[in-house]
Amino acid sequence: MTAPVLSVQDIVKVYGQGDAEVRALRGISLTVERGDYVAIMGASGSGKSTLMNILGCLDVPSSGRYLIDGTDVGALDEHQLAVLRNRKIGFVFQSFNLIPRMSALANVELPMAYGGVGAAERRARALAALEQVGLTDRIHHEPNELSGGQQQRVAVARALVTSPALLLADEPTGNLDTKSTGDVLAILDELSGSGRTIVIITHEDDVATHAKRVIRLVDGRIVEDRRQAPADGLPPRMLEVTS
Ligand code: ADP
Ligand code: MG
Repeated sequence: MTAPVLSVQDIVKVYGQGDAEVRALRGISLTVERGDYVAIMGASGSGKSTLMNILGCLDVPSSGRYLIDGTDVGALDEHQLAVLRNRKIGFVFQSFNLIPRMSALANVELPMAYGGVGAAERRARALAALEQVGLTDRIHHEPNELSGGQQQRVAVARALVTSPALLLADEPTGNLDTKSTGDVLAILDELSGSGRTIVIITHEDDVATHAKRVIRLVDGRIVEDRRQAPADGLPPRMLEVTS
């Protein structure tokens, strides 16, 4: 039996001390199996970013246990955590976080530089990932020569080029117009369709309809965890064609 991609057991996160203490997460437990597509929703201040940082191994919980792909994250040192992040998680951020003055191709090759992948294979895999997001004709462009939607597609290519166990996206369409939002969501739908495991943090209902499962946070607690029909997540591209 394979381990779930994510196993979160009673995670608590407390910031500050004494009067300044904030209990950002108050006992979060959840399991995400391979191939699931989860939207985490909640109002501002409900703990979404805190949870994302912990799921992404960018921060550690105050208590509780977190296993990614069967590995207990709490048992790892800084270096081991960095390796785990690089191997297991592909990040997509609201603000794209591409390296300026580096081509799309070089940006997508970058995560493999730490993974001991040879130059020729790095190139081939980066080209394939950029093709998957429909940017074959933009590989030599630098981020400032690309639209927001194109930059985010480069970021998705960079996230998936290492074949991570988990694609973790924090408000990936938050800075995009409607058309680019549709493009990025269509790509995520496609990736989900091909078996990728995706966790997306969003406060937009339209975005969450693409997921197979919606988890809602209120004040650091899960108040809802429900499955929804994949048909709800019909890509906007297809809607455009039929309307
Ligand atoms: P969301 O992303 O849903 O808006 P956050 O996870 O950013 O929520 O924040 C959850 C709670 O934790 C909020 O009350 C916020 O003010 C608090 N918080 C977040 N980060 C910190 C921090 N570094 N120090 C102190 N409090 C924090
Ligand atoms: Mg946030």
